[in-house]
Amino acid sequence: MSRSEALFQAAQQHIPGGVNSPVRAFKGVGGTPLFFKHGEGAYLFDEDDKRYIDYVGSWGPMILGHNAPEVIDAIRAALDHGTGFGAPTAIEIEMADKVCELMPSLEMVRMVNSGTEATMSAIRLARGYTGRDKIVKFEGCYHGHSDSLLVKAGSGALTLGEPNSPGVPASLAEHTITLNFNDIDNVRQAFAEVGDQVACIIVEPVAGNMNCIPPQPGFLEGLRELCDEYGSVLIFDEVMTGFRVALGGAQAHYGIKPDLTTLGKVIGGGLPVGAFGGKREIMEYIAPLGPVYQAGTLSGNPLAMAAGLTMLNAISTPGFHEQLSAKAELLTQGLEAVALSHRVPFTTSQVGGMFGLFFTDQPQVTSFGQATACDAERFGRFFHGMLEEGVYLAPSAFEAGFVSAAHSQQDIEATLAAADRVFSRL
Ligand code: PMP
Repeated sequence: MSRSEALFQAAQQHIPGGVNSPVRAFKGVGGTPLFFKHGEGAYLFDEDDKRYIDYVGSWGPMILGHNAPEVIDAIRAALDHGTGFGAPTAIEIEMADKVCELMPSLEMVRMVNSGTEATMSAIRLARGYTGRDKIVKFEGCYHGHSDSLLVKAGSGALTLGEPNSPGVPASLAEHTITLNFNDIDNVRQAFAEVGDQVACIIVEPVAGNMNCIPPQPGFLEGLRELCDEYGSVLIFDEVMTGFRVALGGAQAHYGIKPDLTTLGKVIGGGLPVGAFGGKREIMEYIAPLGPVYQAGTLSGNPLAMAAGLTMLNAISTPGFHEQLSAKAELLTQGLEAVALSHRVPFTTSQVGGMFGLFFTDQPQVTSFGQATACDAERFGRFFHGMLEEGVYLAPSAFEAGFVSAAHSQQDIEATLAAADRVFSRL
């Protein structure tokens, strides 16, 4: 028995399912989850000392690779002063200034501890600001696990086949209207009926929790127009895309200005951080300035701020995102070529440093329906084949993949050589 297998057995005694977040349990692909003990650059090392080229990157934050020296040093330096005070610190101002500089649609920003907190708070703020209850989201988009947003959700909820969770009161879920991603006519129709009751639209500007699906031309623009017409708040959930698809996030990449933005992952440099921000007029509704309550004992924690700010500074160097994007493209184009050579029906998507892999005969995947119609069983075999070869992909057909600055051309070439062997056996 491997150490991971032994640890997984032991973990199940006192941890539900042996994991602290469901998709880690390998339910979508079968088998035993790996237990990792060390990360370095593009690599993860499991408890059995096997090395993997990692394309999960802790689900997004590790844009510099694992154990990035500047981030680790910043955490060490902050640690000398204590782990937190529950009171204002100077670094929080630096962080807020930096985020607002990188994403000019944010005039004010509040720090929280996770993406879930960011989206939950942004929704409450949009409701408080507009005085409306209904919210619009899209099927297969995941915005964390707060009650209003856990309706037809993506990510682990989709992987486990439970996009609606028991425990969410029907009386709350009825305020969540779920529409089709990339289908602006569907949104127009809904707004024609109830637009004046809609507090906000929340959208992943590049969907990354039902695999990776970029927005079709006109979709995000259409959402912006409808929100302007009906006085609804447009929320871009950039927890995944922020600082990753471009330095200024998807809003910079596609040139659309949301009213509110939610952030997570990269902004914490690998420590638990989320944030939400946007128009001053809306953000001033948050306590203590305004009546909408939101708070956090650990929010703005100095270790987390040090890690996040250092990471944001490091990725602000000119050319960083162009290089990241070129690597992701090398990988996805290479995988398509290898699949084609073995006649495996397969396509990919890629925006900046994030990508998707689809086992399908469709040339392009643009909808939730197409994403869920892909061959998940074949993905599972591909996943395990790659794992044996020492390549760690997300253990679900419904997650995006990530490259980091630490992935070298040799790493990508080694990944393609591994994929060549695996595709030949599929
Ligand atoms: N929004 C998006 C777009 C996400 O991808 C995620 C997590 N993958 C979340 C929100 C929730 O973030 P967290 O897991 O930090 O609560």
